[in-house]
Amino acid sequence: MSVDPVVLALDQGTTSSRALVFDRQARILAVAQAEFEQIYPKPAWVEHDPQRIWDSQYQTARQALQDGALRAQDVAAIGIANQRETVVLWDRRTWLPVANAIVWQDRRTAGLCGQLKDRGLAPLVQERTGLVIDPYFSATKIAWLLQTVDGLRDRAERGEIAAGTIDTWLIWRLTGGKRHVTDVTNASRTMLFDIHRLVWDAELCDALEIPQRILPEVLPSAAEFGTCDPQLFGAAIPICSAVGDQQAALAGQAGFAPGLAKNTYGTGSFLMTNTGTRAVRSSHGLLTTIALGVQPGRVTYALEGSVFSSGSAVQWLRDGLGIIDDAAQSEVLARQAADNGGVYFVPAFTGMGAPYWDPYARAAIVGITRGTTRAHIARAALEAIAFQSAELIGAMQQDAGFTISELRVDGGGSNNALAMQFQADLLDVPVVRPENTETTAFGAACIAGLQAGVWPGLDEVAALWREHRRFTPAMNERERATALHEWRRAVQRAAGWARTE
Ligand code: ADP
Repeated sequence: MSVDPVVLALDQGTTSSRALVFDRQARILAVAQAEFEQIYPKPAWVEHDPQRIWDSQYQTARQALQDGALRAQDVAAIGIANQRETVVLWDRRTWLPVANAIVWQDRRTAGLCGQLKDRGLAPLVQERTGLVIDPYFSATKIAWLLQTVDGLRDRAERGEIAAGTIDTWLIWRLTGGKRHVTDVTNASRTMLFDIHRLVWDAELCDALEIPQRILPEVLPSAAEFGTCDPQLFGAAIPICSAVGDQQAALAGQAGFAPGLAKNTYGTGSFLMTNTGTRAVRSSHGLLTTIALGVQPGRVTYALEGSVFSSGSAVQWLRDGLGIIDDAAQSEVLARQAADNGGVYFVPAFTGMGAPYWDPYARAAIVGITRGTTRAHIARAALEAIAFQSAELIGAMQQDAGFTISELRVDGGGSNNALAMQFQADLLDVPVVRPENTETTAFGAACIAGLQAGVWPGLDEVAALWREHRRFTPAMNERERATALHEWRRAVQRAAGWARTE
């Protein structure tokens, strides 16, 4: 019996591994998910067991196929979306990791980053990689392992060691150790990849004393990444895409054209704007990164920025203040107030990112009077989600020199109609939520399906994206200017607060 081809997306996230099966109409046929342990050996250290990552990913993939009553032969392609920057180093012969994976959140290499800055490397790093020197990215994590794991440097020099981000590790395991590869989007987050020439940068590798031979071969995001060992699923399914999770979400939002922007409202907010074939250098501390590469030697770029606390403000209303029972109630409560009553909530729980870059900022609620109620506080928290993203998008537009045409949204917070309407009002562009909010997995599936011929081209893939709800701006210019002005005054109150502790 021949069935319509399906695509299996592996969504390897920070806290869980997921597997989703999509059909040609982009319908979800099956979903499986497994959480795994977060390992915190010391304050500010975050690790994952690479074996657990692989096991959980493999098991969810099998589960999804089983739940969808699908055989491996029905799967036209596997696509991978993965947590970015996290690194694994392993022995090429035994496949044994030399240590736990160092996760993107891990700050242990802050000292090493300080040394790189002292050596004056920041301009070179920004020019070549589009990034700022920070422990977040893979390079210093790899350097740290080479420095601290006994005998590792010698083994690496001898060619016995392979390094990679999570896509690379999964592909190694899926192909039975046959392929040591990554894609341009994942490479662009390592701080070792020249995003203009699309090669590992020899100068940066030297500066960090990382032997280039441990790094994977870099392919486009849509490419032949190898075929699965038939013993795993019962057939040699081709692996046809690998994409970093935020880039996958942009693809899943059909953000293929310049000026298209997506925002993922989770605990924090993750914004990305496609800038086409232009790698825009930011003067607001935003990152320049590769959005996607579907053909060899050609990529599109994006500007990226994140808000540290957005949904976490809503979590705080629930857990800290106890004025709501669940996140969705924030909207019901906020609607009990006609407006914010002059109350502004700056949720700088852990400092503020772009465009403020103030690690000492702390959260503040200002403008409280005797008339202030819990409804005003809830409303101010939801408005803050929109204010912070509006500031970030403002910075992106200034950097890129264009205005975004619309903002495509996903993540838990995008279900909040009050926040999304306010977002549209502040930006003065439509905010659009798609039918399919599984944008990360869908992005990986799209790119894999494109490579495998399930869909003939990007236009056909983009046509699969369907609007579910559109929020049209309904605020006049004067109101908008006043709101942003008041917000900035509130941010000034929160700025630098922790310094006085
Ligand atoms: P993450 O992957 O960061 O956990 P999710 O996409 O699962 O993010 O979204 C969870 C976040 O979204 C939480 O911080 C939660 O407070 C917030 N959230 C979920 N639903 C709503 C809602 N209806 N209104 C406002 N915030 C919401």
